[in-house]
Amino acid sequence: MSQRVVVVGAGIVGLCVAWQLAKAGAAVVVLDRAAPGSGASSGNAGAISAGSVAPLAMPGVLRQVPGMLLDPASALHIPPRYALRAAPWLARFVASARPARVAAIAEALSGLLGNAMEAHRAILAEEGALDLIRETGQLYLYRDRTHYTKDAAGWALRAQHGLRIEELDGAAAIRALEPDMQGDYHLGLFLPDQGSSVNPRRQAEVVARGVARLGGEVRQAAVTAIATAGGRAIGVMTTAGLEPADQVVVAAGAFSARLLAPLGLRIPLESQRGYHVMLPDAGISLSRPVVPADRKAFISPMEEGLRLAGTVEFGGLEAPPTPRRAALLFDDLRKAFPQARTAGAEGFWMGHRPCLPDSLPVLGPVQQWPGLWCAFGHGHLGLTGAAPTGVLLARAMLGPKPNQDLAPFALERFG
Ligand SMILES: Cc1cc2nc3c(=O)[nH]c(=O)nc-3n(C[C@H](O)[C@H](O)[C@H](O)COP(=O)(O)OP(=O)(O)OC[C@H]3O[C@@H](n4cnc5c(N)ncnc54)[C@H](O)[C@@H]3O)c2cc1C
Repeated sequence: MSQRVVVVGAGIVGLCVAWQLAKAGAAVVVLDRAAPGSGASSGNAGAISAGSVAPLAMPGVLRQVPGMLLDPASALHIPPRYALRAAPWLARFVASARPARVAAIAEALSGLLGNAMEAHRAILAEEGALDLIRETGQLYLYRDRTHYTKDAAGWALRAQHGLRIEELDGAAAIRALEPDMQGDYHLGLFLPDQGSSVNPRRQAEVVARGVARLGGEVRQAAVTAIATAGGRAIGVMTTAGLEPADQVVVAAGAFSARLLAPLGLRIPLESQRGYHVMLPDAGISLSRPVVPADRKAFISPMEEGLRLAGTVEFGGLEAPPTPRRAALLFDDLRKAFPQARTAGAEGFWMGHRPCLPDSLPVLGPVQQWPGLWCAFGHGHLGLTGAAPTGVLLARAMLGPKPNQDLAPFALERFG
């Protein structure tokens, strides 16, 4: 008899896990309190960044943090009312920037993300939706070499793990690739092997339909607790009652720690709130996501217009969005594309990036609770990491044993 698996969360991570489980023959039910792909997975910048193996906590980045916190227009914001709440997470974040730890994290991320493009392609090819991904690279912009130096260690680490980086020296070389770039940027880093999604929400919907096509079910239901008996997980409680399962996968993004806390599992999962604005008619044409690196914002061409996405705001899961943070994205755009039209911008969107302090997701079994599995905490790279996570987790759950060691991603690393 096939295994009955309940996946909590129909974000791109839960859906890719469910897709692989259903393909491997499990009887899968995905439960989400909202529509598939309507959480963080709907509004991200669409970058599929298989080579992004440098953790967020790099010594160079840490040096930039104090200045960023003092600048109200910077890409990072921690409101004073939240500073105390964020402090333990930030202490762990700083601790993970030790050189030996950074090297180990990059190694683990490289193993997880390295074949992300292939893993996305494999799902979308079977679903007849390869038009969702674009394989024209990504472009990072620096004002000059001095400015680039701040990030040099991160780029060196990525290159060491195989990321192909082509330097574009001077604004003319940048314009040869993206003719509409008219800002004050004189060094470009072109990453030809990185990709992007032209519509992350539609991508999630396609994968959800794929789960159903493979015999699984994606159903709307709020999960109120993980159900346990005899020291193991036996399903989940929903507002409609018990949903029994042989195995349960928690893939509830930034909300995952809340579901696990009643089981005595304390996980330092923090939301890094990010924003986007859509410009249906910006009047510029881009062939790939462009990132003005001083602003840490993505300018991504998508099928419904140009998406400006970025900023990191600590503030938890309950506080209302801060429109001022989203408005900063217009300045980011103007720095590189001063001629872009912002009239007609469609409101703004906020989403919760599920972030662990060491930039590694939690993937794999929970030792203390047989039958319980985790797939959350992909932070800034959840779209990228979703498809390879699906492959890895399905193999860990149903076999054959995955080639990659799950130990670096274990929940137990938090003690
Ligand atoms: C502005 C921004 C830009 C980004 N850009 C990129 C990018 O370019 N590339 C990239 O790779 N990543 C990017 N990310 C990160 C990426 O979007 C996330 O890491 C990813 O979407 C996380 O997916 P998820 O499935 O884990 O979570 P989510 O998409 O948030 O899904 C979790 C789901 O769980 C459901 N849920 C939660 N609790 C319960 C419950 N109790 N019962 C039932 N359902 C529940 C929610 O409704 C939700 O649908 C970006 C994020 C943001 C905010």
